[in-house]
Amino acid sequence: MAEIVIENLRKEFGDFTAVQSSSFRIEDGEFFMLLGPSGCGKTTTLRMIAGLELPSSGQIYIDGEEVARKPASERDIAFVFQMFALYPHMNVRRNMSYPLVCQGMPRARVRAKVAEVAAILGIEDILDKPVGGLSGGDRQRVALGRAIVREPKAFMMDEPLGALDAEFREHMAEELRALHDRMGATTVYVTHDQLEAMQMGDKIVVMNHGVIEQFGTPQDIYDKPATRFVADFIGSPPMNFLSFQGAIAPGDQAVRMQGVDLGVPRAQAGFQGEMLFGIRPEHVRFDDGGAWRGRVLASEYLGTTQIVTLDSAAGPIKLRAPSDQRVAPGETVGLNFDARTVTLFDGSSGRALVSELNAGVLDHG
Ligand code: ATP
Repeated sequence: MAEIVIENLRKEFGDFTAVQSSSFRIEDGEFFMLLGPSGCGKTTTLRMIAGLELPSSGQIYIDGEEVARKPASERDIAFVFQMFALYPHMNVRRNMSYPLVCQGMPRARVRAKVAEVAAILGIEDILDKPVGGLSGGDRQRVALGRAIVREPKAFMMDEPLGALDAEFREHMAEELRALHDRMGATTVYVTHDQLEAMQMGDKIVVMNHGVIEQFGTPQDIYDKPATRFVADFIGSPPMNFLSFQGAIAPGDQAVRMQGVDLGVPRAQAGFQGEMLFGIRPEHVRFDDGGAWRGRVLASEYLGTTQIVTLDSAAGPIKLRAPSDQRVAPGETVGLNFDARTVTLFDGSSGRALVSELNAGVLDHG
């Protein structure tokens, strides 16, 4: 069990900065996701926490102790990689016992500990089997078991499900989360898959080019994206963005887009210039009386819902609607939305123009 605090953590490789200046707090027992596209610095951040990479500057506190320059062996953290390396010549029991035997734990205690962890993972029946013939899922459970028996302070996981096919991946994600809930150990988990992060995480850090774009709960990140990047990265299809020149009047905080009063309540008063009107596809609805008109270009059937692509005077837009609301390509329809579901962004910096920006958002300069 551990609380992990990261302060101004930075990593340079030569003159390339992989992690800019990260600060965030991981609460004891949290399932914490580092999310972002390939190359954004997730793995480098995780490796610095685990002690496998030396930071260029900044601090890492584990339970209040500053460990940034301590070797991995003194941090009591287990690292679980995507490619689980098991000892092929040993059976499951010996693979799981190995870290404890190396610590000099007496045999009887090793046996009891391995049995306890095997029961948590539901792999008691394969303890005496060679690892060579195991399925991918069982290999994964054994590798997790080998990490768990040590009872480390925290687990670091780098895309542990990345090599699995989609269906099994979803199953293992549920299993991992349930396991975490039973054990309550702090877990830091790297993924580029936004669905995995939303499904499993208590908190998410969204990274881009070595910078933290946002830090918060899955709901915060989905409902109140701090930047255009986050709004675009999270959600499928992503948020719609319509560019317009506008101003937010100081008094009534009303926003006018092409003469239509948006009246967005969270908007930041006083801003003037290019803005992006951001709305998620599920927050746009068909409304015969709507002042906003769109021409249907295409409709993608997804079972209970459909994604409709439209062209409107304000720009192209995607809408998610129940699939029984039939529309035909070429048809012109009225559209509407609830102003509370709109996020406005500064068109040049991409930052959300809301009065309550999430804590943890760093300055993009
Ligand atoms: P991925 O999922 O592709 O691994 P990531 O977000 O985990 O992406 P990192 O592995 O942290 O990204 O890498 C961040 C950047 O730092 C990348 O541009 C990578 O090429 C670079 N990088 C990582 N390790 C080194 C290294 N040892 N030497 C030089 N550059 C490195």
